[in-house]
Amino acid sequence: MSYLGVVFTSGGSFNQTQITLAGQARKAIFKMKKYLCTITNITVSHQLELFDKLVKPILNYGCEVWGFHKAQNIESLYTQFCENILGVKRATQNDFVYCELGHHSLIVSRYFKIVKYWFKIIGSKENKYIKLIYNIMKHDFEMTPSKKNCVSSLHQLLSSLGFLEVWIHQGVGQKEDFLSLIKKRIMDCFYQNINSRLTESSRALFYRHLNINNDLKMYLTSISNENHRIALSKLKVSSHRLIIESGRWHKPIATSYNERKCTHCQKIDDEYHFILECSLLNDLRKKYIDKKYGLRTNMQKCIVYKFTKCTNIKKTSFFYISWFES
Ligand SMILES: [Zn+2]
Repeated sequence: MSYLGVVFTSGGSFNQTQITLAGQARKAIFKMKKYLCTITNITVSHQLELFDKLVKPILNYGCEVWGFHKAQNIESLYTQFCENILGVKRATQNDFVYCELGHHSLIVSRYFKIVKYWFKIIGSKENKYIKLIYNIMKHDFEMTPSKKNCVSSLHQLLSSLGFLEVWIHQGVGQKEDFLSLIKKRIMDCFYQNINSRLTESSRALFYRHLNINNDLKMYLTSISNENHRIALSKLKVSSHRLIIESGRWHKPIATSYNERKCTHCQKIDDEYHFILECSLLNDLRKKYIDKKYGLRTNMQKCIVYKFTKCTNIKKTSFFYISWFES
């Protein structure tokens, strides 16, 4: 059953809701891309802006009610769009994609909208239908804390963010200040979780050194040539054919890390080896990589010189394209 555009099912799950919204948003993305095809040189930030204005409102529609659902279909559609912008493969880690674009999972904005709506509910008159329902659910949760409903999820969210007292008092003095604070806290928690996953993940051995900040990365705006921009994204997020990555997908079993070696140099064929070490690429390196950075190099130098300085970024993308796509 659909009520005011939100799909409700008899089981009470919002799975069908998010599937329906993802389907509607897919159509909107299709139309938007069709239109974008007629425009040349549209920037990454413009594409993200268009998505935020034209598609996100569809994906977040009514999320004050269903927003605690994980909404895998919605998130998948969103990350697919982002991967498309970067020009990287679908199997790329979502964390890398969020960090490159300085964007966050849609659940971050849903959490904020839920808290904002909660203030609206608790500030409304007692005889309002929404307030009556809220009081019943709150009572249920207080009587049976193990019970799962929207109110228990909100309680859990506020306490996990360190705002249990706001729940206990059912409100705050300065609502606007609090909303700014909680928005920042939700965002900080999101990126903290990403950073701890980057520290632990074996797939992030290279990327963990690159995520210097959580903004849209500089090269995505400074490189106007799309092929070069995409080449650099591929290199950064390991969406490439170096053996460190392709060995991971080797069938029937993945090649162990220590065996993912360059067949020519017998060293681990990772991004560092590719950019600064591999003797097969000496000629290209002479052309694109400054000589002084080829001596006594380490991972830190590799990153500082290749990914943070505009001219070096361009040279690195030329280097990548010359080897992989010539
Ligand atoms: Zn090599």
